[in-house]
Amino acid sequence: FGTPQQEQYLVPLLRGEIRSAFLMTEPEVASSDPTNLQTKLTKHVGAHGRTKYVLNGRKWWSTGAMDPRCRFALVVARMEYADGATNTTTNKHGAHTIVLVPMPQPGVVFERALTLFGYDDAPNGHAEVSLKEVQLSKENLIAGEGSGFRVSQARLGPGRIHHCMRAIGMAARSLELMLERSMERQAFGKYLAEHGGCQEMIADSVADLESARCLTLNCAATMDVVKEPKLARNQVALIKYAVPDMTYRVVDRAIQLFGGAGVSDQDHCLARFLVGLRSLRIADGPDAVHKRTVAVSFLKKFHQSRL
Ligand SMILES: Cc1cc2nc3c(=O)[nH]c(=O)nc-3n(C[C@H](O)[C@H](O)[C@H](O)COP(=O)(O)OP(=O)(O)OC[C@H]3O[C@@H](n4cnc5c(N)ncnc54)[C@H](O)[C@@H]3O)c2cc1C
Repeated sequence: FGTPQQEQYLVPLLRGEIRSAFLMTEPEVASSDPTNLQTKLTKHVGAHGRTKYVLNGRKWWSTGAMDPRCRFALVVARMEYADGATNTTTNKHGAHTIVLVPMPQPGVVFERALTLFGYDDAPNGHAEVSLKEVQLSKENLIAGEGSGFRVSQARLGPGRIHHCMRAIGMAARSLELMLERSMERQAFGKYLAEHGGCQEMIADSVADLESARCLTLNCAATMDVVKEPKLARNQVALIKYAVPDMTYRVVDRAIQLFGGAGVSDQDHCLARFLVGLRSLRIADGPDAVHKRTVAVSFLKKFHQSRL
């Protein structure tokens, strides 16, 4: 979607030299329904037709915005028109636009770093950000006015597959730790691995992990074939709620098998994994929204098959 001028950010971003942030969620509105978003991008047309855009609002859960390497933020904002500017977009979902805000930027104020179940991720964590009269120009728009939802959808699909891949990594490591622990530790005269209850936890975890892998691989393969992210939308929605749930269960069982050692993050990674997977059921859209997408699509298909 970017212009050649905007592409200057992409190469250093891909090299890992700089970071970016995506500012969509807002504290004041239920942001799982993005039509609620209130941050305003006001277009002004001044003398000689000179156009400027001014950004005002408040965002939170802006992951990575406080990372000192963060060089730009993509901000989703509702269009407003002032000083003779009028809405010319014909886009169906055209109320919102994404703007590229170079960082640091006058008017972008970090209010605080949000903690995650008490974990302090700052300065690389999740920022609450005020946007106060941030001055921008046409060159800052991504794909033009009113393209916000289209651009967001294109970006979120592949990102959600990555979330699932990371979740699978955490579950795989947890299962490995569970196997090691159960073969080293004894209770009531037997290794944990010899107790039926522990074997059941291992077997259930293998099933959850393999199911998560298959669903994610299937979705990624579809994405490769169809190329257009929106054509894989239902599969992405399916893995986005199913995989965090399945992998969370694996980590939860590993914690149980580790006993007291499992709930502290001082010696083992399991507690930290649990926090990450629990928050993933909210980050990038809560479970309920993705379940809705899957259910509506299946109901529609079923209805059409009966016509
Ligand atoms: C670790 C983490 C990182 C994040 N990173 C970012 C980021 O980088 N950028 C960004 O913009 N945001 C980010 N977020 C925010 C995240 O995307 C939002 O929290 C999420 O989309 C939900 O929005 P909300 O918090 O406003 O919840 P709400 O919209 O208020 O929803 C709350 C609850 O309402 C219920 N609900 C909502 N809709 C329905 C429905 N259709 N049917 C049934 N129940 C429903 C669900 O139980 C849902 O969990 C992050 C969040 C976390 C936890």
